[in-house]
Amino acid sequence: MRNMPAILVVEDEPAIAELVLVNLRHSGFRPTWAMDGVTAQREIDAATPDLILLDWMLPGDSGLQLAKRWRGDVRTKEVPIIMLTARGDEADRVAGLDAGADDYIAKPFSTRELLARVRAVLRRKAPQTDETKLEVGALKLDPVTHRVTFEDQAIKLGPTEYRLLQYLMGHVERVHSRAQLLDKVWGDQVYIEERTVDVHVKRLREALGAAGAMLETVRGAGYRLTAEVNLAQDPGRSK
Ligand code: CA
Repeated sequence: MRNMPAILVVEDEPAIAELVLVNLRHSGFRPTWAMDGVTAQREIDAATPDLILLDWMLPGDSGLQLAKRWRGDVRTKEVPIIMLTARGDEADRVAGLDAGADDYIAKPFSTRELLARVRAVLRRKAPQTDETKLEVGALKLDPVTHRVTFEDQAIKLGPTEYRLLQYLMGHVERVHSRAQLLDKVWGDQVYIEERTVDVHVKRLREALGAAGAMLETVRGAGYRLTAEVNLAQDPGRSK
């Protein structure tokens, strides 16, 4: 489904998870459930969620440890986190926010409050305006002039490849499934097939030349733009 924010719910108590999932689903979100940090990490590796609802007390790594780790990871550092916890005192709240949580909800909470917080956090984290200049390594994109350069050499792109690159550069290091890219880049043109994404990714990669190596295929998951490739090692490169 399109335009439905993906929310990862990390909660070890099935009854609470079920309640949260049902309410999120009814409110137009796409929730997935992970009962511990290991499962949550697997879900994140498969597709980066738009928001994480994170219980504090979990088997294995605590929510606090997970929040710290995800904040430190380039792929998840921009993903909003709302902590869920029975620990309601101020010191805990501060610890949660210090660990990188965007908001905090004390159990027991009303589902209405939860949904309001989710919406508020997603609104605050809405992507920057389209006028922000983007820079990933030596790759630069200027949305005002629509100019794309790599190592100061101009790169010519079709409109779809341009929008695709702009989106990927705005969400660097994150893995995007084909469905997510369709949603974000093509919007509500629902008749477009996921295979179309592959075609445009291929074109974009070709147009980028040496920088094309930055656009990685993540097997079974989708695509990622990364600055963490050593372009200098490409034997086809002249410098
Ligand atoms: Ca718990």
